Amino acid sequence: MLRIGLTGGIGSGKSTVSTLLAARGATVVDADRIAREVLEPGTPGLDAVVAEFGGGVLTDAGALDRPALAAVVFADDAARARLDAIVHPLVRARSAELVADVPADAVVVNDVPLLVETGQAGSYDLVVVVEADPEVRVARLVTRGLTEADARARIAAQATDEQRRAVADVVLDNSGTREQLAEQVERFWEERVVPALG
Ligand code: ADP
Repeated sequence: MLRIGLTGGIGSGKSTVSTLLAARGATVVDADRIAREVLEPGTPGLDAVVAEFGGGVLTDAGALDRPALAAVVFADDAARARLDAIVHPLVRARSAELVADVPADAVVVNDVPLLVETGQAGSYDLVVVVEADPEVRVARLVTRGLTEADARARIAAQATDEQRRAVADVVLDNSGTREQLAEQVERFWEERVVPALG
């Protein structure tokens, strides 16, 4: 199995790259999606979050009230660390479960937005970082429905391009067109993935 860790700041184009890699046959494991799954109603994850933060982080229907939880952890690093201590191990365990059955020659792409922030670069054979100019990212995130202020706040809360580049084996530049990105993904597949598979 070739394990690829895919990361990049919000709006850089990770989902777009993982879709292109999936089209080449990679198995994509999406950490954000798993992070939602492990806190669905009825999960031990949600029970643990409620035990830690109280019933105020639930909606009337008993699901996780994400804005309420975000408000609790946003300005409180210790609270965020307690939340991470619940969620990150669950995400890692579920991710491992999802790849337990893939064939030996599979290419597994882990889309991990916070790969650098959570110190996971060492878990992969190749770390791929998607970059785009911050102003381009803001514009794309606004098109995706975020307010400009929200987009900028989220970018500022994440690792910097320099920090991500420091752990990158490959940097994909997505400041240009989708076609230019696709060409880079194609080259990456031919030059780094195919040879690594032997
Ligand atoms: P991430 O997963 O890193 O947050 P996405 O892949 O969702 O980023 O890309 C952010 C937004 O920008 C999406 O709406 C996506 O469709 C769009 N997008 C991605 N790459 C390009 C590009 N090269 N040109 C124009 N829009 C793009």
